[in-house]
Amino acid sequence: MDVRAQVSMVFHLDKCIGCHTCSIACKNLWTDRRGAEYMWWNNVETKPGTGYPTLYEDQEKYRGGWEAGAGRPRLKLGGRLAELARIFHNPRLPALDDYYEPWTYRYDQLIGAPPSDDQPVATPVSLVTGEDMKIEAGPNWDDDLGGSSIYAAADPNVEALTDSERGQLLAFERLVFFYLPRICNHCLNPGCLAACPAGAIYKRGEDGIVLVSQHKCRGWRMCISGCPYKKTYFNWANGKAEKCILCYPRQETQQVPACMHSCVGRIRYLGVLLYDAERLAATAALPDAELVEAQRALILDPFDPEIAAAAREAGMPEAILEAARRSPVFQFVKRFRLALPHHPEFRTLPMLFYVPPLLPVMATVSDGHYEVTPELLSSLDASRLPLRYLAAMFTAGEVAPIVEVYRKLVAARLYQRATTVGDVPRESA
Ligand code: SF4
Ligand code: SF4
Repeated sequence: MDVRAQVSMVFHLDKCIGCHTCSIACKNLWTDRRGAEYMWWNNVETKPGTGYPTLYEDQEKYRGGWEAGAGRPRLKLGGRLAELARIFHNPRLPALDDYYEPWTYRYDQLIGAPPSDDQPVATPVSLVTGEDMKIEAGPNWDDDLGGSSIYAAADPNVEALTDSERGQLLAFERLVFFYLPRICNHCLNPGCLAACPAGAIYKRGEDGIVLVSQHKCRGWRMCISGCPYKKTYFNWANGKAEKCILCYPRQETQQVPACMHSCVGRIRYLGVLLYDAERLAATAALPDAELVEAQRALILDPFDPEIAAAAREAGMPEAILEAARRSPVFQFVKRFRLALPHHPEFRTLPMLFYVPPLLPVMATVSDGHYEVTPELLSSLDASRLPLRYLAAMFTAGEVAPIVEVYRKLVAARLYQRATTVGDVPRESA
């Protein structure tokens, strides 16, 4: 056993209100610079929706579609670097249009505009996503639109649904959406690191934070192709790759990352996980159906005396072991089995986990009773947001682990209603 420590995260999606405070805190601190205008190391997407960069979850598109470029302008990369990128055949990149073109508000126009029925709106970037389909795209142009919108229809996870589920998701009267805040997952098996020909990307031994050496980076942008979450970015002003650094300078001075510190919904949890590095390669190679369970199995129990002894033997400081025991991430992921990785089938073993939203649950308060439709747990397409959609996002398409999570979330909700509001009979909780 090779026990290592990893700083990891849980985002509780039920609590996210989509205020984007986290994105602004991060932008003000790290990407408010020339060449980084289009970057959102932290972004918040509306799901179902197309995401940022647009359609990043569509692996077919990033393997092939972005290669052709479809005549769209690439990031502002010119001269020798562009030539080298062609030689080394790395054109599988999103173009600037896939992110968005930053703009500056012309306040004189906004303030001086004649009165009208509409709010002032900026013109979104156009994006062609298929032969006949054209949608407007930006970092979150689909904000709050959700189901029934053209963005929801283009969401790659919708492809996993049956015809009836798709119809239900996109039906206007069942309009449904939730927010998905995203940062770099600081993966155990980072695709960005594996892809870098310059050896510029490394994973810190002490906490597993994945960083880009600005000194070694040669601007190949293989890390952008290699990260399935598209969480590395290319700074067109200095020709270097950049990414979320999990605010390590703040963590080293006993402060939490800025996105977590500023989070209005208090949805973000940070903690240390212990894992067995010897099992990494075997875990990443497993079939889809086994991935969620195998990733949980990779995480070690810090309360187990044998594991603690192995960690001490490997030279792990007592303070790290203690932090692992106090970790809310361990409780959410391993003990309660409530938090799941985003797209485990990408096989980078992401260390950011999500508690899915309770949105699928249809609930009514009638005659003083709080009811959760029983169909939820017996029929996959009776819920407001099809569970298969959530399975496509969080469990590599496996429905059983998603149902397990929802059973627990519903039980917790009923229990809370029974013990606080009192409108649910205790026996049903
Ligand atoms: Fe690298 Fe992407 Fe994983 Fe972050 S999310 S560690 S950028 S592969
Ligand atoms: Fe969601 Fe928190 Fe970000 Fe607001 S600050 S969008 S609640 S993650």
